Amino acid sequence: MENRIPLIAGNWKMFKTCPEAVETAGQLARLVADVTDRDVMIAPPFTGLALVAETLKGSQVSLGAQNLFWETEGAYTGEISPAMLASAGCTYVIIGHSERRQYFGETDETMNKKISAAIKSDLTPVLCIGESEKERESKETFSVLDKQVTKGLKGFSSADMETLVIAYEPIWAIGTGKTATREQAQEVHLFLRSLIEKKFEKGLAKSIRILYGGSVKPDNITELMAMPDIDGALVGGASLDAETFSKIVHY
Ligand code: PEP
Repeated sequence: MENRIPLIAGNWKMFKTCPEAVETAGQLARLVADVTDRDVMIAPPFTGLALVAETLKGSQVSLGAQNLFWETEGAYTGEISPAMLASAGCTYVIIGHSERRQYFGETDETMNKKISAAIKSDLTPVLCIGESEKERESKETFSVLDKQVTKGLKGFSSADMETLVIAYEPIWAIGTGKTATREQAQEVHLFLRSLIEKKFEKGLAKSIRILYGGSVKPDNITELMAMPDIDGALVGGASLDAETFSKIVHY
């Protein structure tokens, strides 16, 4: 895995009220206090961010948001700017999650604008990409991912992308209990690393962290993390419970 520091990230989606978010974050901070050789991040809903940031102060756990809007401010009712996220204590932001593409019309083009805005505000973007079941069955996985990477990362230099994290999340494995086998995931991660080398630089391809996401649980994380090009996990359902997520962090 070269010198890449593993990242275990939890996406809480639209779960947890403010008190629930604070309680889970506090439990998690205590449970992973011993962890020094990997990064841990949680992404609560917007409403919980500032409170959870207080709870996480001085802990090993970083704070992320699940989305942002690319403008700095203005008449954009319901949207949140990168500076607002940074001021709430976020250092990461998830971008282009398949649920955002499926339910809220996000595209590779909007992702590109969001990544650019995140980088300008020193937020680490976690770019989500992945194929549907139909695309995998019709052997389009690599062409779909190539398009998502090419359009999503259009116009960025290797330097821009120094902190960027890619999360490979096959849509058919998200929230379904179906996980890609470690061989399937490794094959895609290696493909993505080669794609980054082809489009950017060898150094970036070696250093960029590529996470796997899709029904990651305490009982499958170890085998996934044993693969040379899997640098961590983006965890949905199993990140909602602090003890379960802590087991994944301690794979
Ligand atoms: C996700 O939301 O990014 C995800 C991978 O969900 P789950 O772990 O529940 O499949």
